[in-house]
Amino acid sequence: DPRLKAISESIRVVPHFPKPGIMFNDITTLLLHPGVFKDAVDIFVDRYRHMTISAVAGIEARGFIFGPAIALAIGAKFIPLRKPKKLPGEVISEKYVLEYGTDCLEMHVGAVQPEERVIVIDDLVATGGTLCAAIRLLERAGAEVVECACLIGLPKFKGYCRLNGKPVYVLVESR
Ligand code: IMP
Repeated sequence: DPRLKAISESIRVVPHFPKPGIMFNDITTLLLHPGVFKDAVDIFVDRYRHMTISAVAGIEARGFIFGPAIALAIGAKFIPLRKPKKLPGEVISEKYVLEYGTDCLEMHVGAVQPEERVIVIDDLVATGGTLCAAIRLLERAGAEVVECACLIGLPKFKGYCRLNGKPVYVLVESR
């Protein structure tokens, strides 16, 4: 797909952020190019529009940038999966392991109904731990996770194409 080159080139790589030694993939530079931003959303929309997806679940915070645009275009609802203590209603939670310590994602009870077909959106997959927690959360609510989708896949994720038995669709590999 000829659109992928511009998508890859518009993502800035910032060395030593947020900690020394980390190469941070920054999608905010992609957002400054409306044509490239639209191309990224369009690729996902073309992929999912005919898959009878009723919900797009976005992971805080950068999944909130791409998820709603995709949801509106395919006629699906948007479900925010948030960091702890941000959602005001009753929630279910899933902890997951990070390189140092643990984190947690929460979803409102009732956001998704059993059997609904859902996709999960984030900006980047590294170890896949975050996406796995999102899948567990949705499956506990009875939803069917059809696929996870990210703009960027880190090379260390290479070789894995499935998480908890779910496929992961990635637009570009980190430079
Ligand atoms: P994983 O759980 O190891 O797959 O890490 C993915 C999560 O960490 C996602 O929510 C990403 O937004 C975030 N993340 C990790 N590295 C980067 C990066 O270089 N840029 C942006 N987000 C990152």
